[in-house]
Amino acid sequence: MKEPKGYILAFDQGTTSSRAILFDRAGKILASDQRDFTQYYPEPGWVEHDANEIWESQLAVARGAVAKAGIDPSQIVSIGITNQRETVVLWDKDSGKPVYRAIVWQCRRSTEICEELIAAGLEEEFRSRTGLRLDPYFSGTKLTWLLRENVALRALAENGDLLFGTVDSWLLWNLTGRHVTDVTNASRTLMYNIHEMRWDPLLLSFLGVPASLLPEVLSSSDDFGFTKPELLGASIPVNGVAGDQQAALFGHSCFKPGMAKNTYGTGCFCLLNTGDRPVKSMNNLLTTIAWKVGDKVTYALEGSVFIAGAVIQWLRDELKLIQSAPESESLARSVEDADGVVIVPAFVGLGTPYWDPDVRGAVLGLTRGSNRAHIVRAALESIAFQSEDLLEAMSGDYGKPVEILKADGGATANGFLMQFQADVSGIPVLLPEIAEITALGAAYLAGLRCGYWESLEDIERNWQLKARCEPDMPEGRRKKLLMKWHRAVSAAREFKP
Ligand code: ADP
Repeated sequence: MKEPKGYILAFDQGTTSSRAILFDRAGKILASDQRDFTQYYPEPGWVEHDANEIWESQLAVARGAVAKAGIDPSQIVSIGITNQRETVVLWDKDSGKPVYRAIVWQCRRSTEICEELIAAGLEEEFRSRTGLRLDPYFSGTKLTWLLRENVALRALAENGDLLFGTVDSWLLWNLTGRHVTDVTNASRTLMYNIHEMRWDPLLLSFLGVPASLLPEVLSSSDDFGFTKPELLGASIPVNGVAGDQQAALFGHSCFKPGMAKNTYGTGCFCLLNTGDRPVKSMNNLLTTIAWKVGDKVTYALEGSVFIAGAVIQWLRDELKLIQSAPESESLARSVEDADGVVIVPAFVGLGTPYWDPDVRGAVLGLTRGSNRAHIVRAALESIAFQSEDLLEAMSGDYGKPVEILKADGGATANGFLMQFQADVSGIPVLLPEIAEITALGAAYLAGLRCGYWESLEDIERNWQLKARCEPDMPEGRRKKLLMKWHRAVSAAREFKP
């Protein structure tokens, strides 16, 4: 076969920065560019972005990456987009201008709307159709808030003059002029029925959202349109779109049911491929769409840890026990164990499987001999314990144990943490050679559609192993450590300030 020429350009539109990366066929990075943008906090608990700034920064870094690579835009075979999920953009259909700031996934302004819907007994209706919880985190109630608070917007919406989109959809509109999204982004809105694969009229009526606002939903590897030539100097097809966590699962080549990935960043995001089966969770996990490629929908279970790498930032910035995050590794290794110290970093409550927003953090088991190294070690261990709780919840729901964990994110730089994760979970933890797994996932989805990569097997061959941590802890010790962790979690939940 003739090797396809050219490169795939991935847009990685994140919560704090826009990035663009050019990949070659081996999945290697040719060039990249990044730009931070403004975060707005107009009220406590509220978070907004300027949708124009998102678009302009994304376009600028795309041009920047192409310039750095020194290639001609015509050498870009296709574009893949991955993005911060759940964030809501509302714009005028004719002018194309946003009518409000983008309401970011972290924004809690629709808490009351969620409470109202829960009080009306609708939680199970939303859960069974969308796989999600009625939480302000997801797009639907943010949109309800916009249309309720602003009478003028409501009138425009009812008149069919406005368009809604998650960030992928907003970028696609600007790039190609089409009002489209992909199934993974749609599945995070509380409006998309993940079984019937369509916007759900009943849920739209509960949320008070006119259907005319909504984009057409395409597969994750599909024809999203061509970029307007003046933007990047060529008319380039957009062929891949997925929300960031789903793109990471794809980038890790977790194509088979039972494969999982965990991203160790500020928090952790863990996704398990459950194949063509949307698994209902009994353990507070979300059921979501992993991707749709061709006619085949793949589902995932998703869980998150709120405080992961953030506990290391806390040691550094608040306790001043370490000067830098990497220092935590040598300190943790300098002692044989945490000497009975357990940290439950529930600074903002606990996520899956506890889902307890009122619990706060705790340090337990201190003695006169407890030192800095023990506390740092306990903090790192807490990241692995929380992730193990997620994996255990996933195994329970899925009905089979998770057998391998693929890892990415900033905190995977910590070798002690990765080995401890393998030990307490009793499964191998695999680290990829390439750090940009999320962007790579978007590139793969695009390249698969346009024939740059021929098949999933073709993509899988690119997955280069950097390190593999094998579990190496006697079962008895593993059980004892987990039991102690769970006792500490119970104690923290018992003590509510
Ligand atoms: P995000 O995408 O959420 O901003 P990143 O993937 O960039 O996060 O990872 C940053 C997080 O990883 C920070 O919370 C930081 O404390 C943590 N981190 C970075 N390096 C290390 C390390 N060597 N050991 C432990 N934690 C680390």
